[in-house]
Amino acid sequence: MSAEMDTIEHELEDSIATLRQAGIRITPQRQAILKFMIASHTHPTADEIYQALSPDFPNISVATIYNNLRVFKETGIVKELPYGDSSSRFDFNTHNHYHVICEQCGKIVDFHYPQLDEVEQLAQHVTDFNITHHRMEIYGLCKECQDKKSNS
Ligand code: ZN
Ligand code: MN
Repeated sequence: MSAEMDTIEHELEDSIATLRQAGIRITPQRQAILKFMIASHTHPTADEIYQALSPDFPNISVATIYNNLRVFKETGIVKELPYGDSSSRFDFNTHNHYHVICEQCGKIVDFHYPQLDEVEQLAQHVTDFNITHHRMEIYGLCKECQDKKSNS
């Protein structure tokens, strides 16, 4: 087994243990969605997960995917990244990190940087809001899209 496969299996076991502790039943569909989330580093939408799994699970629906993502979110296994009107993306890695987003193809890449906690304190101080969290997104053109542009 490759190191990558080994990590995925490990994270899958951990996540299943977390779900079981929360009293959640592990169905084959639920396990497949979880595994897809762990293996993909692309922050997929519910629709993308549906497209990927429907060949193996002909009875699966987008609603099933959504229900499962909601369960994973409630147990803290995935984080939802809402984007206004367009569909949310889902992130398996809930450790604090920021995102760099391609303006052309929409790809989201993790960017690890020390948390800007002082911004929250300052925002709370200045606005009197009870600040709950913050989200930072950095935009640009990914390598693939830069190459496409220079080739056309
Ligand atoms: Zn791109
Ligand atoms: Mn991420």
